[in-house]
Formats: sequence, structure tokens, C-alpha cells
Amino acid sequence: MSDTQALIKKFRVKPGERVKLRDEDAGQESIFPDKDIAKAATDVFAKDINKLQDRLYAENKRALLVVLQGTDTAGKDGTITSVFRETSPLGVSVTAFRQPSEEELAHDFLWRVHKALPRRGMIGILNRSHYEDVLVVKVHHLVPKDVIEQRYEQINAFEKMLTENGTVILKFMLHISKGEQKQRLQDRVDDPNKRWKFNPGDLKDREHWDEFQDAYETMLHRCSTPWAPWHVIPADKKWVRDAIVGSIVKETLEEMNPSYPEVSWKKSDFKIS
Ligand code: ADP
Repeated sequence: MSDTQALIKKFRVKPGERVKLRDEDAGQESIFPDKDIAKAATDVFAKDINKLQDRLYAENKRALLVVLQGTDTAGKDGTITSVFRETSPLGVSVTAFRQPSEEELAHDFLWRVHKALPRRGMIGILNRSHYEDVLVVKVHHLVPKDVIEQRYEQINAFEKMLTENGTVILKFMLHISKGEQKQRLQDRVDDPNKRWKFNPGDLKDREHWDEFQDAYETMLHRCSTPWAPWHVIPADKKWVRDAIVGSIVKETLEEMNPSYPEVSWKKSDFKIS
């Protein structure tokens, strides 16, 4: 087993497994104890991901979908920036999901997500996703309980259909501790360059920390499937988080092994004057 395969095994949630987020170490510095080495590794992963995406695009048969979830300040934006910073803008799409619009609410909850999925050849990243509909929607009781209850299976069926149609799915839950969130929110208040990111509404969600953790645990238990696995990523240390996500994305693309298409002509058929 390679180092990356061992990492995947460590952080992937097995189907039916019950993760206790309170018992999970959100730091995990022992995996990448040296910050500089971890950052250098992420750089290499980011370059490799770009090369693999080029092959994915040329092959034009499959897509990779990366789903990112995490509480406010967990580092979804930062992870995208670090892991995909070398990927050609031509080959990647990022969609952020906020509170649904009136039109989105007039459809089923998967409608807006389906429209945002990557076409063949692309890597598509969801910054928040359909999982908000079993997280924030559950915690704030925005729909009845029995509607939430049906959604886990609906999501699993939806994701299965996607994989059967050529989309490989990777899901990452960025796990930070309550203390680290406190620090990050305080930084947003204190640092004039970060103040724009501070949303007083985040404090309201922080009051519901335990309910959110429960909702995440249920989501991980019910929706980590063989075809669309969840990974719980220790995210208190940004360099640890980036290196783990980068290595799993790279390994997954390598396993997909996209290939440049064969052409129907020989080099000698053409003489370009
Ligand atoms: P972010 O925190 O991702 O940088 P915002 O500050 O705009 O972006 O927050 C987006 C907000 O939208 C979050 O509070 C999130 O819980 C909320 N949201 C996303 N999807 C839904 C949904 N389906 N129903 C209700 N709220 C949602």
C-alpha cells in the first residue's frame, strides 16, 4: 500500500461507519509534522493534478466532482486555492452554494446542484453543496423532519446515477475544532483585511455547534457510499489539510488513469510546410 493509499484508508468513511467528530483530532500534525515539507508536497500534487486534468480533458469521457463541506471558517476556499492553483482555468469549475433563491426553492433540492456539475473532461468543485439540505436546513428546521429523512437516500441515488454516467465523486468534510473556529472568527474581526469575510450570522450558527456536529455525523454515516465516499479531513492546520486533500485528489485521478485519445493518422501522413 502506498503512502497515499494509507492516507485514503485513514480518512475515508467506510459505508455505514459512525464517525464521532468529537473524538477526531482536527490537528493531526503528526502526519505532516514539517510545515514546509507539507507545503512543498501540496505544490507537487497541484502540478500533477494539472497534468492529469489535461489528460482527462483530452479523453473527454469522464469528469471528477469534488464536494467540499465544513463549518464556517473551515477553509473551503483556502483548500480550493491551494490544491487547484496549478489547474488550468479551462479545466476546472467552482460553484459556491448560498441560501437558495426563490427559483431554486421552487424546484427539488438537487436541481441547482445538477446544473452545476462538471461536463466530461472537467473537474467540478462544489463549495458547499446539496449536503446543506441535510445540514443547515436540518439544524434550523427549515423543512419537516420526514423530508430530511428521505433526502439521504435521494442523495445516494442521485450520486450513484452520476457515477454510472462517468462522474467520479470525492467528498471532503473539513473538520475543525470549536477552539480553532473561535480563533479564525476573531481574526476576521481583528484583521482589517479579513473583516469583509466576517458575517455576524456565523455567530448564530456557532451557537448551534453541537447540532451541526450531529448533523454532520448523520450525513457521514448515511451518505458515505462505495461510489461516493466521504473523507473527514483534519483542518485545524491548513498545511495538513491541503496536503491530505491534494494527495487524495491526485491519487484518484491517477487511478482513473485518463488517456490521450489515439488518432487515426500517422505522423508521416503530414508534412507541414
Ligand atoms: P461561505 O460561508 O460559504 O463563504 P456565505 O457566507 O455566503 O458563504 O454563506 C453561505 C450560507 O448559505 C451559509 O450559511 C449556508 O449555510 C447557507 N446555505 C447554503 N445552502 C443552503 C440551503 N440549501 N438552505 C439554506 N441555507 C443554505
